[in-house]
Amino acid sequence: MNNNIIEVRCLSKTFDNKKALKNISLDIAHAGITALLGPSGSGKSTLLRHLSGLALSDKKDGTEIRVMGELVQARGRAASGVRCCRARAGYIFQQFNLVNRLSVLTNVLIGALGSTARWRTLTGRFTAEQRRQAMQALERVGMAAFAGQRVSTLSGGQQQRVAIARSLMQQARIIFADEPIASLDPESARTVMELLRDINEREGIPVVVTLHQVDYALKYCQQLVALREGEIFYQGAADAITSEALTALYARSRPLSS
Ligand code: ADP
Ligand code: MG
Repeated sequence: MNNNIIEVRCLSKTFDNKKALKNISLDIAHAGITALLGPSGSGKSTLLRHLSGLALSDKKDGTEIRVMGELVQARGRAASGVRCCRARAGYIFQQFNLVNRLSVLTNVLIGALGSTARWRTLTGRFTAEQRRQAMQALERVGMAAFAGQRVSTLSGGQQQRVAIARSLMQQARIIFADEPIASLDPESARTVMELLRDINEREGIPVVVTLHQVDYALKYCQQLVALREGEIFYQGAADAITSEALTALYARSRPLSS
């Protein structure tokens, strides 16, 4: 037994001939906010998708992914083939992934289904208790006043807060957020990061977030995991990384276009 919130052993992922993750092993013991950093294409989203059970790794003996002590994926003889399941993880996307034509409240209620696939059949059949919980989640993120509004009428920052409420409705034990502020203006970005920090501190839900803005990572995250070309480049406390290491992280492998 240990207190690691995330354990990854020998994780590789190849797309066509491109090695996106190269035999990664990683332990995260810190239950605060962990930033996944690295240049574009370094494998951040791919790693996050594996942690949340949204993607399957290469077939390789010894691969194992545990999140909050639960086996999310294991491959190889010892693990009797492939296993991929979703730990109770909330997932926040850059583009919010809400159902635009439904109300804010219904979008949060969808979190109670555990998967977005079944919402069509179940909309309208939520219990009064579920509605109460959804309203509570909306209050938590400061969006209760918008419950009856269509998602399409909200700003990006407001939509991201609704997506966070949906994770709370899911009773997520951990939140994965993939570039949650990349589409937001600076003020909304701050609001969303502060909300994640507040939820982490008060509800005790660990957050793992990919960010391409290093300054946000240093401000809001206690732990850093930096990837470069599919390999772990740095792992440790955010306040221990040197500016030389940060420069080296983004040197050379940055795409020519940016
Ligand atoms: P990051 O999130 O750090 O920008 P990604 O994890 O999205 O990086 O991508 C890592 C590498 O894997 C990139 O070279 C990318 O082009 C490739 N890749 C990611 N997803 C796919 C996919 N579905 N099909 C093919 N290549 C992919
Ligand atoms: Mg990405």
